Amino acid sequence: MSSRISQFKQTLTQVIHSIRFRLVLWFVLILAIVLIAFSGFVYWRQAQDIRSIAITRLNLAVEHLEGVQAESEHAFEPPGSSAILSQNITTNSDVLAHQVVALQDANGKVLDSNGVLTSEQIQQLNLPAGGWSGVRQVSVPKITQVENNRYLFINPAIQQNGRIIGYLLVGVPLDANNQLGKLVISLILGNLLTLAIALMGGFWLADRAMRPVRTISQTARQISETDLRKRLHFPGRDELSELGNTFDAMLDRLQAAFERQRQFTADASHELRTPLTIIDLEASRGLTARRSVDEYEKILHTIKTENHFMIRLVTNLLALARMEAGQLSLKFEPLDLSELVSEVIERLAPLAIAQGVKLNIDELPRVIVLGDRPTLSQMFSNLVENAIKYSASVDSPRVTISTGEGVEKDHSFAWIKIADNGIGIAPEHQEHIFDRFYQVDKARARMDKPVDEPGEPESSGTGLGLAIAQWVVQAHHGEIRLHSELGQGSTFEVCLPAKAPGA
Ligand code: ADP
Repeated sequence: MSSRISQFKQTLTQVIHSIRFRLVLWFVLILAIVLIAFSGFVYWRQAQDIRSIAITRLNLAVEHLEGVQAESEHAFEPPGSSAILSQNITTNSDVLAHQVVALQDANGKVLDSNGVLTSEQIQQLNLPAGGWSGVRQVSVPKITQVENNRYLFINPAIQQNGRIIGYLLVGVPLDANNQLGKLVISLILGNLLTLAIALMGGFWLADRAMRPVRTISQTARQISETDLRKRLHFPGRDELSELGNTFDAMLDRLQAAFERQRQFTADASHELRTPLTIIDLEASRGLTARRSVDEYEKILHTIKTENHFMIRLVTNLLALARMEAGQLSLKFEPLDLSELVSEVIERLAPLAIAQGVKLNIDELPRVIVLGDRPTLSQMFSNLVENAIKYSASVDSPRVTISTGEGVEKDHSFAWIKIADNGIGIAPEHQEHIFDRFYQVDKARARMDKPVDEPGEPESSGTGLGLAIAQWVVQAHHGEIRLHSELGQGSTFEVCLPAKAPGA
């Protein structure tokens, strides 16, 4: 029972705090104010009309009575039944129906009456002594046929030879059929009905308007880190559809980011598994039986090679992870590209010599770019290293490096080309070449030299070099392009926005 009460309380609190409820409440409140103001105006207008009609009837009655007196042969001499009162004035016409007529002496005492009230009843109305000007509104004793007992009275003087000899007291019902009362009931009922309809309609409308918001929160609740596939797919072009589309687009981006993250972890684990397995196998091989010194040397060499590969892989992975997480802060400064390229070539020249690759350096004109020295240097190293690595196996291998400046669509840029006459890349691989861990010939890239033969540990590819290079270029608002033909060689071209002179 108590749980039901608390559940009810919770639901009530939820409803009271809901936008739907507040929206409807405000709407109904404003409507109620408008309706009350409008009803007040209608009531006031109707009251005015009724009063002016009653005054017209009152004047007509007085005119009629004065006419009767003028036509009378007898002089009006109160007290006594005068000609005025002998006329059946109360039933003469509809206009004069339900009226009160009385004669007062000069002191205001009621002498005689005709109509719906007796002289005593009139006397008890406590009207002023007599001869008062204007119109008075007084509640009279209940009269059958008259629904509303408020009366309007007038009190003209009766004169003879310029002397006031008495007063005429005439009263007509202000609102005989109680039109005002009926109007008030109609207005109250009408307003209540309107407010009830507005309340229900408002709830229905607000419910409809808020439905997309509920769908959004339901969908958001269903979305978890492991399942980001839910979408809203709101049709239409209204504000909520726009919100829904923005929400969907955000989910698309999140899903892509999560997917990349998952792929990254899976790929990294996969890449690390091979060297770890090799190390394990080699270590077991060395431990299972007694080996010669040469054999132990080979085993240790293999373990060292794999270890080097893992160091390279982990270093590259860390660099890439930092880049993508935005943790790598780039320090942009004006750099001479030719100087940077020369440094890289100088560093890699021993590798080229060891691999029997000829390094051709074209003229390197001075080109200034705004860039981050360490990352740009790493990017060039990756490209030149690849060019050496993937051309070493052909006859008279050659790598040519050149730099220069150009203008495209009013934007000047600096370019650097690294061209080799190596194995080249087939067209179907070219679009994936910048993907992480993508290697055209995995086995070959993984280990250029057979495991049993001592060789350069650095020759092992991780499949991350070009991904890093692309990230660096994009972080510099540049572009990296590849032109390659299988068996002919490859050219990587990097374009970076040049620093305008004086900028
Ligand atoms: P890796 O560490 O394997 O070199 P990269 O990301 O640097 O990884 O390169 C990805 C793949 O692109 C390489 O495995 C190779 O197949 C191909 N590749 C890169 N540069 C060249 C090149 N100059 N000539 C031919 N193939 C290349």
